[in-house]
Amino acid sequence: MKRNLVILGTGFAAFSLIKKIDTKHYDLTVISPRNHFLFTPLLPSSTVGTVEFRSIIEPIRTAREGLTFFQAIASKLDTANKTVQCRNAVSDEVFDVKYDWLLITVGAANNTFGIEGVRENAMFLKEVADARSIRTKIIDNFERAATPEVSQEERSRLLHFVIVGGGPTGVEFAAELADFLEEELAESYHDLVKQARITLVEALGQILNSFDADLSKYASEVFKRRKISVLTNTPVKEVKPKLLCLKDGSEIAYGLLVWSTGYTATDFIKSLPFEKDKAGRILTDGYFRVPNEENIFAMGDCARPESKAFPQTSQVAMQEGKYLGKLFNRMIKKRTPENLGEPFEYNHLGMLAYIGDEKALADLPVAKSSGFATWIFWRSAYLTRLVSLKNKVLVLFDWCKAALFGRDVSRF
Ligand code: NAD
Repeated sequence: MKRNLVILGTGFAAFSLIKKIDTKHYDLTVISPRNHFLFTPLLPSSTVGTVEFRSIIEPIRTAREGLTFFQAIASKLDTANKTVQCRNAVSDEVFDVKYDWLLITVGAANNTFGIEGVRENAMFLKEVADARSIRTKIIDNFERAATPEVSQEERSRLLHFVIVGGGPTGVEFAAELADFLEEELAESYHDLVKQARITLVEALGQILNSFDADLSKYASEVFKRRKISVLTNTPVKEVKPKLLCLKDGSEIAYGLLVWSTGYTATDFIKSLPFEKDKAGRILTDGYFRVPNEENIFAMGDCARPESKAFPQTSQVAMQEGKYLGKLFNRMIKKRTPENLGEPFEYNHLGMLAYIGDEKALADLPVAKSSGFATWIFWRSAYLTRLVSLKNKVLVLFDWCKAALFGRDVSRF
């Protein structure tokens, strides 16, 4: 008889497992507020139209034949009755879904560190809707700044693009925005672009802290040359509607504020009665089983094996999903994971980041590199990692289109 596997989430871990699992033996039900898989590594590029939104998403309903999908948010888990309570993401209707096996892979939420005003005034960069809002806001601000009645002070504020968080997300967005200003907006808004500024605010002593120190220094130098101000050792205290208040008492007027200071646990994960680590991630065994909960597994950004904390990256989640997919396939014959070989081992392939002006960083176990050739490598690596032929063709086409005709600056 087929087993009923319910998967919460449509991120890298879920998508990789869905592609691997043997659907002759498992009935798949996927529950997520997002009805598509999103290739997040190229999300910063989509904020300025280097790639289009639709080129980096894959619909989940067609990911495997026979898959059942509910566009809903898991709100409660009843382990005694093996039921997940869900709320429809469109209509808010509440309904229950029964499971035999459950995989919790709901990702993580934007971390605001409880700083006042972040949720109300800043924009995040985690979903397609965020990238779309950022893209609209950039053009809106230029159009508002172009109005003759606008005071010089207001114009300067509108054209100040501030990013909080100097991790890979913040750095890649700053880089893409600088390209957009120089390569496209300079043509459409030549006088205004001269007044536009980009500021990257980081609480620690350097940006890209997870990268090799020399690479991080190189990125700072490239940013300096491109007139992207990098403020290190600058923690934020509060965010007001038009003002960023820093801990040292100074204030920065902004027209757009992007908040990218990493992740925290979602409300759903916080509500679960399982043991968690300090960061609020569910602790599992090496096979991603939640202890004392037969048939419940957890992985990706919302969980980690007790023995090792892996970084919250797409690379980790993808490997975890593939591993668990294979494990589920082997469990058809032998019921328990212990009989099925080794627990999960992460194979770190390295980190890549785009830093703008056709330059990238590669921090690989075998070598570290930066510059133009690394940018070509960065593009080839992401092209290979895109999850479908359709995505690969569309992204390649977008890159060619942007190089030949420029990015689109229309607002719609
Ligand atoms: P991050 O956690 O990597 O970086 C967040 C940065 O924000 C840190 O440097 C932190 O010091 C800073 N910060 C925190 N609070 C602050 C405050 N109040 N004021 C100013 N700065 C503050 O977050 P991210 O860049 O969103 O990335 C999230 C995860 O995704 C990470 O695991 C990252 O490695 C991964 N990721 C990787 C890539 C890549 O490898 N190319 C790209 C995007 C994301």
